[in-house]
Amino acid sequence: MNGKAGQAVKMARQCFLGGGTRSLPQRRRLLRQLEEVVIRRRDDLLAALAEDLGKPGLEAYLSEYHFLLQEIRLVRRKLGRWLKRRRVVSPPYFWPCRSWIDREPYGVVLVIAPWNYPVQLSLSPVVAALAAGNTVVLKPSELAPAAERLIAEMVVEAFPGGEVAVVSGGVEDAQALLDEKFDFIFFTGSTRVGREVARRAAEQLTPVLLELGGKCPCVLDRGMDWRVVARRVLAGKFFNAGQTCFAPDFVLVPSVERESFVEACCQVMEEVPWADEMARMISPKHAERCLDLAGDKALVFGKDEPTKGRIAPRLIPEAAWDDEVMMEEVFGPILPVVSYEDGDDLHERLGSLENPLALYCFSKNPAFVDRVSRRLASGSVCVNDTMKQSAQLKLPLGGVGASGFGRYRGRFGVESLSYPRAIMRRYLTRKDFGEMLPPYCNIYRWVRKFLR
Ligand code: NAD
Repeated sequence: MNGKAGQAVKMARQCFLGGGTRSLPQRRRLLRQLEEVVIRRRDDLLAALAEDLGKPGLEAYLSEYHFLLQEIRLVRRKLGRWLKRRRVVSPPYFWPCRSWIDREPYGVVLVIAPWNYPVQLSLSPVVAALAAGNTVVLKPSELAPAAERLIAEMVVEAFPGGEVAVVSGGVEDAQALLDEKFDFIFFTGSTRVGREVARRAAEQLTPVLLELGGKCPCVLDRGMDWRVVARRVLAGKFFNAGQTCFAPDFVLVPSVERESFVEACCQVMEEVPWADEMARMISPKHAERCLDLAGDKALVFGKDEPTKGRIAPRLIPEAAWDDEVMMEEVFGPILPVVSYEDGDDLHERLGSLENPLALYCFSKNPAFVDRVSRRLASGSVCVNDTMKQSAQLKLPLGGVGASGFGRYRGRFGVESLSYPRAIMRRYLTRKDFGEMLPPYCNIYRWVRKFLR
């Protein structure tokens, strides 16, 4: 057992075995404690997000503070119903007997979080894990240091009983945690690191939930109201400066409509002061990567300050499929526009893509939407808008294929972080009939006659 990782796991394990997270009232109490701390530390939380990512207040308030509160409240309210024992009918040949399914916690859950929504993506899995009855070791991202510090403080305030422990630090600390034995690993981050986490988890046969990234396509049909489409696509793209795992990564537009769409985008860009109110890149290094990806074909709407992590929003009106920007997840305020000729071309293109977390489709024709969503499996589909499906706590969030596996948010998180345990209870009767004891011949005759 090594260093702070080992200590944290030991504490979380002791706490789990002590039963501090098992009963429904205990779980509700923990969620209430977290809710109170989130409310009390609201201004610190918004300040940390401004420090790490320069998030505009409105974005931070809605996507991190309020979203998290909403989830805690929903889970607290509905938990009793979700965890209710489910009775099932038992076969008559086992009577007298009862059968049911209980949802059981796994035990100690490791949560590894990314930096783009550093508070929400750290604490939302914690909510699910606690609601499901587990204890947690949480490793926030080292790349958002103000949020990392704040989360550590909030956890100490909310969970004085040690139900959640925070391990701060970078890759080495994350790897030290993966050396430990957990009962479940919840990882949010890049596909590259997700693969490594899954490999390490497999060594100990630990179940994992992987929330990964990828390129989410936004497919446009012909004959749309381009102004409305442009507003909705760009609003999704530039939220948090494009650093959202399910942001529209690129747009696929019919070649005959490319000009109309690009024109509408340029008009919207002129009207909306994005350059003044947009989050920063998490670091100058990330800003440089984005500028390299954008290349020199982009239309630029504002001034760059890469040393401060600020880059102006960009549109690449004629991106080619083999451009660098189409080879990896953009994860920044750059929107490449690629085109397709006809239905067959679109079908072929979609078939060549990795499965994304989200698929966006703008069309008035349900058959078009149906064709597009059947061709490319994705974690979610949003029609005629972007990102809204993931702000809906009653829908599950998660990927498929290269974008990960497993689901969370509200009820889905509680179900993912617990397992259904099958329980059968027979009664001790004085006369024990129906047992299968040799000699079998009479029973066998009976079975063949009646169980057809
Ligand atoms: P990342 O994979 O670099 O890091 C995520 C976490 O893993 C961090 O806490 C980091 O310290 C840790 N880590 C890094 N290297 C590790 C290693 N070798 N072993 C173990 N842990 C390691 O991801 P990031 O840059 O923080 O986040 C951006 C990525 O996350 C994007 O690809 C984005 O699409 C994805 N993402 C996905 C979701 C989702 O819900 N599916 C949400 C947010 C971000």
